[in-house]
Amino acid sequence: MQHKLFIDGKFVDAVEGATFETLDPHDGSVLAEIAEARAQDVDRATAAATSAFPAWSRMAAAERGRLLLRLADAIDDDVENLALLETRDTGHPIRDTRGLDVPRTAATFRYFGGMADKFQGSVIPVEQGFLDYVLPEPLGVVGQIVPWNFPVMFTSWKLGPALAAGNCVVMKPSEISPLSALRVAELAAAVGFPPGVINMVPGFGASAGARIVDHPGIAKVSFTGSTAVGKGIARSAAETLKQVHLELGGKGANIVFDDADISAAVNGTAFGIFHNQGQACIAASRLIVHAKVKDEFMERLVTLTRSIKVGDPKDSATEMGPLTSAMHRDRVLTHLALTQQDGGKVLAGGGVPQDRALAAGYYVEPTIVEVDPGARVAQEEVFGPFMTVHTFTTEDEALAIANDVAYGLGGGLWTSDLSRAHRIARDLRAGMVWVNSYKRVNPGSPFGGVGVSGYGREMGFEAMREYSSPKAIWINVDAQLPAYYPRG
Ligand code: NAD
Repeated sequence: MQHKLFIDGKFVDAVEGATFETLDPHDGSVLAEIAEARAQDVDRATAAATSAFPAWSRMAAAERGRLLLRLADAIDDDVENLALLETRDTGHPIRDTRGLDVPRTAATFRYFGGMADKFQGSVIPVEQGFLDYVLPEPLGVVGQIVPWNFPVMFTSWKLGPALAAGNCVVMKPSEISPLSALRVAELAAAVGFPPGVINMVPGFGASAGARIVDHPGIAKVSFTGSTAVGKGIARSAAETLKQVHLELGGKGANIVFDDADISAAVNGTAFGIFHNQGQACIAASRLIVHAKVKDEFMERLVTLTRSIKVGDPKDSATEMGPLTSAMHRDRVLTHLALTQQDGGKVLAGGGVPQDRALAAGYYVEPTIVEVDPGARVAQEEVFGPFMTVHTFTTEDEALAIANDVAYGLGGGLWTSDLSRAHRIARDLRAGMVWVNSYKRVNPGSPFGGVGVSGYGREMGFEAMREYSSPKAIWINVDAQLPAYYPRG
């Protein structure tokens, strides 16, 4: 288990010698003491990345890709270790970290490894006598700040495209779950990434994070996290005119029509909200169900929800683990209390599990509440195993409820009517829409939002564009230019 900062290819202590603890959310025990990066450490990391940049950006793209492909293989080989590390640090059940998160991390690095030498420039058909070509140039050193909910996956979402495009990176993992990112850095060093290309500076937002945003040597900050912090980052980044990419919160609408396959929709809805304890920006946190099928649908969903196996995330039979931090558990419980004030009716869950074996952990029951769509808990991101239910009878009503939030990240619908599927997909205010499924992601498919869910995109060609700048180069091949100042 690595617990130091990773700067210039080496694991090092923090300049000021500060450390912080990362805890096991299953029982609150200390997992590791981590070196805490502060401003001077970010400066060191940025200096290392700046020195590494000329050689890295001029390396043949295929060579950069080959290193990313090797890293993908190393992650696959390390799946048991990385999955357990992630499970212990985040509380995410081992069946998911082993079966989804780590394989997806490898797949995303592999995708961008393959992308490195396919991301090409273009030639523009300009006036006769000129050759005008456009080179996608890397930006330089990019800063990446990530949250605690899918930390291993986020290393690949952020590092993959940035490195493939030829940038060097200073990444700040969350102070709550830094372990898997440090392991990915260790694997990257082992497969031959040059020193300084990847730097990991775990630490707190107000110190390490803020320094990344302020640092004049960092060309862009790519931030995934809450909308409140994202707004502050956009404001601060204006000082250095840094580019900003913001992946922020969500409040996903999940519409079930009366012609939907009810079994598939019940299962997909439960997965959409309760996977990773609801700690997903694209969680299906608002169910909008047609009045005609509501009773049957809710009966089946509530029965399924009550049967979800909540427990030690290291147990491979566990379907839902603890929330990742005590502070976040308390935030979710505050929202549960608010539900009552808002006149909400609890249909399932609604508190902490009574199992004494879980008493020291940060557990919350999978919870479903019926409440007015305008209620605070139906408008604010709860980011936990907490879903609100709303009823509709017409398409317009369903869309009005779905789009009446400030967020616009993911959304879904269940129907067997093809035209309706396309109509609603078009009219949902969201960056991603799933029809008869929920929460699908793929390294090739753009990921990001609209409204207060942020701007910019992860994944695919869009992510490569996020991390490069087009340079137009004009060559006078044989153009005869009339003299603009004939006397010269
Ligand atoms: P957060 O905003 O509190 O923190 C995210 C990261 O920012 C952490 O690394 C934190 O240390 C850092 N940070 C905090 N204050 C900072 C500051 N002033 N300057 C620079 N960095 C700072 O979010 P969180 O609680 O860790 O994560 C949950 C949030 O992330 C939710 O809102 C969720 O929706 C969002 N999220 C979004 C996506 C997406 O792709 N859109 C994905 C996952 C999570």
